[in-house]
Amino acid sequence: MSRYITSSAIRGAHGVVEQAEKLYKETLKALGPDKEVAFPNTTYYLPVIYTLTGHKVQKIADLAKPLELAKSLLAPVPDEHLWVPYLGEALDAGAATLFAEEIIEGIRFAKGEQPEAKNGFKFNGPIDDVQMRAWGIQMVDGRMPGFAAVIGAAKNNEIAVKIVRELQSKGQLVFFSGTTNGISIVDQLLESGVDLGYDTFTVPFGSDTISTVYGLGYASRAAVSFGGVTPGDFRKILLYNKFRCFAFALVLGPIDDLKWATGAGAINYGFPAICDTVVPNVLPTGITKYEHVVSMPFDDIPGKDDMERAERLVQRCIEVRGIKIKVAKVKIPVAFGPAFEGEVVRRDNLRIEFGGKGGMCFELLRMKDKDEVEDGKITLVGPDIKTFDVGAKVPLAIIVDVAGRKMQEDFEPVLERQFHHFTNNAEGFQHQGQRDITWIRIHKNAVDKGFKLSDIGEIIRTCLVNDFGAIVDKVQVTLYTEPEKVKELIEKARVIYNERNVRIAGLTDDAVDTFYSCSLCQSFAPNHICVINPERVGLCGAYNWLDCRASFEIKPSGPNQPVAKGQIVDAEKGEWAGVNKFAYEHSNMAIDRFTLYSVMDAPMTTCGCCECIMVVIPEANGFMIVSRDDYGMTPSGMAFTSMMSTAGGGQQTPGMMGHGKYFLLSKRFISAEGGLKRVVWMSKNLKEELGEELKEACANIGEPDLIDKIADGTVATTVEELLPYLEEKKHPALTMDPVM
Ligand code: SF4
Ligand code: ZN
Repeated sequence: MSRYITSSAIRGAHGVVEQAEKLYKETLKALGPDKEVAFPNTTYYLPVIYTLTGHKVQKIADLAKPLELAKSLLAPVPDEHLWVPYLGEALDAGAATLFAEEIIEGIRFAKGEQPEAKNGFKFNGPIDDVQMRAWGIQMVDGRMPGFAAVIGAAKNNEIAVKIVRELQSKGQLVFFSGTTNGISIVDQLLESGVDLGYDTFTVPFGSDTISTVYGLGYASRAAVSFGGVTPGDFRKILLYNKFRCFAFALVLGPIDDLKWATGAGAINYGFPAICDTVVPNVLPTGITKYEHVVSMPFDDIPGKDDMERAERLVQRCIEVRGIKIKVAKVKIPVAFGPAFEGEVVRRDNLRIEFGGKGGMCFELLRMKDKDEVEDGKITLVGPDIKTFDVGAKVPLAIIVDVAGRKMQEDFEPVLERQFHHFTNNAEGFQHQGQRDITWIRIHKNAVDKGFKLSDIGEIIRTCLVNDFGAIVDKVQVTLYTEPEKVKELIEKARVIYNERNVRIAGLTDDAVDTFYSCSLCQSFAPNHICVINPERVGLCGAYNWLDCRASFEIKPSGPNQPVAKGQIVDAEKGEWAGVNKFAYEHSNMAIDRFTLYSVMDAPMTTCGCCECIMVVIPEANGFMIVSRDDYGMTPSGMAFTSMMSTAGGGQQTPGMMGHGKYFLLSKRFISAEGGLKRVVWMSKNLKEELGEELKEACANIGEPDLIDKIADGTVATTVEELLPYLEEKKHPALTMDPVM
């Protein structure tokens, strides 16, 4: 490595380690050795320290060990003019820097100084475990190809926005930290009105360089959580990241010693740095997959203006890290990419809306003969957006006709449900609901940039052909805004929706002889396999039986394979010989039995992305169910994240099982143990979300008041509080057969 960089990095490491030591000594005196040190909502302690060394920091006194380790990794600062033959000392200094930075952030949390708040803006601080898991699936299925740590500030606000938009439209998760001459890119983005937060794939860690360590903590946890690496196995953590985690740093503005030292820490993980200033290039590959440090002075980048230069800069980052982007090229006047999926169009920015309360908007996909569909034809019947007043609520019908040799009627709802995901990728476009409860809101800026109704058709057509080209050959879209016409068409659509409901309701486990598997999660939970039957969704909630069947038709070698039921072994527990055989063969021979209707005997395996997890409460003769959005304590003595660390790595744990939330509404829901009547406690948000449907399911089993009898976090967070509540409400579980 360049002598200059090596000596800077080592000097920076000395500085930050000294800073950590001083802070540690002061805090030890001020707060005592037992003061708690913890990042919020994580089971990985201080994650870089924990995953690389196996050491669990829980209180101030626990910081002594990593501090000593950091000091032991520091070589003397070499002379800038001496040749340094190898990277080792700089890399060690990098590791020492990360330990010191994490110690400093840990102490800041202990002192109540994190997450940072500045000028009324609250930074995010570290990413919590729940969000990490949610993003985990997107990393695995390729929707989110990598992440970028942007450090410092851009030359001006306009360039800052352009860089971030480019990264977002390439599906990158973007982290922000550090400043350049006292300005952070977060300031620049906020001044330009850019929405920051988990929903838009942007995470402002903090305003200083030290907070960059949160990004490495995220990468470390990914290796443990998705890669199954044991904490303490630092070699495997670093290798996992080098090969599986497509991250890089984009360093904007001049680089000081601390930035070099932090960068050396990141290079340990295989994450290269691309700098927009003149710095020595470190090109030989080895630790990173390609180059280590690439200098790309902003003003020297070829391009007709700064916007084009910003685009090229981001393009270069993607190449250096070897990231493959598979984002559909959609020809519309606004940006398009997964980063815009969670965007919300607020009242002040609303140009026009369709549907929602008191409105009328629906979408319908129909299968047609190939002669009836003219591919690429997009028609608008009625006036376009610009003719309506700002903020108007207008009726809209979106009718999509598709044809394809392998298309089947059963795929219609599967494809139709994708519209939500497709259209939300457009910048300034918000889509909610489905069928005749669709609600669309469009941002003023999008319309100013030229967004028209036909662009909705353009998005749907391009995405259908890209993602479902195996079953869809031709797509034609017709949109209507004339109230009379929409009204007439919505009635016809409702007849079709109803026919579909009847068809799906008739789809029972007994009515089919094939179930489907899903092995998508095996990349991070190697022994995990989902078997999905018509009456049970996958535990992540994202795949039902029809989806899997469609997916198999589309990609026969894909993650969803048919599972022949075979001989019935136990009808009550839902055990079939064919399912057992399949589970055995596809779980690395870790599981030899799989029941579909029982949680006590050979339940399905659980992976990190389950929507809910249930666990037996023997004292109450029943089960409690926690949803992943519930951060609170539960009567099992564990919160959701701790339950996940017990059961979530793809294990089969009798008495404990992850499941999708809609499984609760199924007739087959733990029917071997007595079904819904066994549920004694449930997260409040789950009760609310399932609302009417849950009431109906309770009524169907002859227990219309069951929801009131089921406790939640507002009445009980311990078994001691739970039992009297169940007694008082006369919960049916109390008089059922013993559960164990
Ligand atoms: Fe993972 Fe199962 Fe969901 Fe597939 S269905 S993505 S294996 S949780
Ligand atoms: Zn999973």
